[in-house]
Amino acid sequence: MQRGRGISRRALLAGAGTAAATIAAGAAALPRSKVKAWDGSTDVLVAGSGAAGVSAALAARAAGARVTLIEALPKLGGSSAMSGGVVYAGGGTELQRALRVEDSVEQMFAFLSRAGAPHPPLDKLQRYCEDSVAHFDWLLDQGVRYTEKFTAAKGLPMGDESLYFSGTEQAWPARELATPAPRGHVPGLQGMNGGRHLMEVLLQRARGAGVTLRTRVAAERLVVEDDGRIAGLLVRDNDQPRALRVRRGLVLACGGFIHNRAMLQRYAPQLFDCSVPWGNAGDMGAGINMGIAVGAAALRMHQGFAIAPVYPPEHVLSGIVVNASAQRFISEESYHGVLGDAIAYHQGGRAWLITDKGADFGMHQDNFVMAGEANTIGDLAVNIGFPSGALQHTVAYYNRFAETGEDPLFRKSAPYLRPLLGAPYRAWDLSVDRAFFPAHTFGGLHTTVDGQVLDSFGDAIPGLFAAGRTTAGLPMAPYIASGLSVGDCTYFGRRAGRAVAAHPVGAA
Ligand SMILES: Cc1cc2nc3c(=O)[nH]c(=O)nc-3n(C[C@H](O)[C@H](O)[C@H](O)COP(=O)(O)OP(=O)(O)OC[C@H]3O[C@@H](n4cnc5c(N)ncnc54)[C@H](O)[C@@H]3O)c2cc1C
Repeated sequence: MQRGRGISRRALLAGAGTAAATIAAGAAALPRSKVKAWDGSTDVLVAGSGAAGVSAALAARAAGARVTLIEALPKLGGSSAMSGGVVYAGGGTELQRALRVEDSVEQMFAFLSRAGAPHPPLDKLQRYCEDSVAHFDWLLDQGVRYTEKFTAAKGLPMGDESLYFSGTEQAWPARELATPAPRGHVPGLQGMNGGRHLMEVLLQRARGAGVTLRTRVAAERLVVEDDGRIAGLLVRDNDQPRALRVRRGLVLACGGFIHNRAMLQRYAPQLFDCSVPWGNAGDMGAGINMGIAVGAAALRMHQGFAIAPVYPPEHVLSGIVVNASAQRFISEESYHGVLGDAIAYHQGGRAWLITDKGADFGMHQDNFVMAGEANTIGDLAVNIGFPSGALQHTVAYYNRFAETGEDPLFRKSAPYLRPLLGAPYRAWDLSVDRAFFPAHTFGGLHTTVDGQVLDSFGDAIPGLFAAGRTTAGLPMAPYIASGLSVGDCTYFGRRAGRAVAAHPVGAA
């Protein structure tokens, strides 16, 4: 993936959306009595070859189970292999210690539990933070490569640095809720190749450990015993229907549903209009639908990662972001997932970045269209169609305090805070349907910390486990830091794998 050259990212991902139309989204469950004969059997069956599925498969295999992992697409790795590979880790990981970064489990937990969505799943958060050092050690043990290099720059490192502030830790109000520490752990490779490396390493491990990996095999229907236990799975194996029996359990790790337009319209309408479905073509919601079909509860289905990537370059953060009423509504330096969430979910999907002569994107970005340019703020406001006088008031108020180093509304930090002074003034369109505005889903099946899928009464569905974006895990809206999704997938994937391997045959 190259920035600003050749085919644009927008065009590339629009193509990914077209391919998705051919992948099935799951179907209703089938009673065991309707299956005449099984075409194969295994202890543990994992559906989906992303970070969650492969981590689950590795853990189940390490616990002694026979494991088969099926992948609907011809290629293994899912969205995880497309990703930056950032894992949110802290509390004093080996990399943090090597770089003399001070952190603690308490501060990591304080940030994750207080800076984002209300009422986060504290049981999952607590285990994730307490085990973070050990989980990072596990990634190292698998062979994932990190460099002992830190960068203070905002945004995913494009050099080979492996530690950075991947979230909104330093922006207000987060910096007052917990002591900021860099916790974005990214494989030490040039460019956006971390996810590919991470998945190559984990898949290599899975092969070596004896996990059976199958491509072009899509999970379609759960097979259920009379007592509700999961007996197996109907799959489409290279276009042939097959019935696979599972002795211990099934792990659904089929990713989210950003490419399923009908599900988006129904569950997550704010994400429907975002310009770029940000995920691999298999993100059709099959795992979630199959779980719901056997009575699983689904949580936070409307939530997702809506991203307004205004930085880099960081100097544009000295501009101001305003809504359709020309009012500021956030500190511009906020992590781009926090900014994107505010625009998509709380401002009707519309916003503009206003810059002056000292802050410009330059010629080489294609993320945001310039919506207007003028020599005065007043003319710019008319140009965009803001309510009469509103932008002038907003800029005058902002400038008055910025001159003295203050931002009473959103406490923007000093490096980005200065008055807007000097033409040309420009407005950049950050609207969800006009800007480069990637999105993917967070909602999914309700699970225990060990991946057991729960129904709406909180009871486990016997033999059914899930992990990653098929579940409602740590990523919530607003998404406060890169690395929470792959971190959640690998950590809770492993927990699900251990639990399903220990699940007694025929037991709840
Ligand atoms: C460009 C990009 C960059 C990102 N960067 C980061 C980052 O750095 N850090 C981070 O935390 N998050 C990042 N994310 C988000 C993150 O990659 C995903 O949320 C995460 O990888 C999801 O992992 P998963 O295992 O749940 O699903 P996936 O990795 O998508 O794997 C699911 C797999 O299941 C398969 N599947 C679907 N249906 C079926 C079926 N019926 N039967 C069998 N198989 C099926 C799919 O084809 C897919 O291969 C990024 C996303 C993108 C698109």
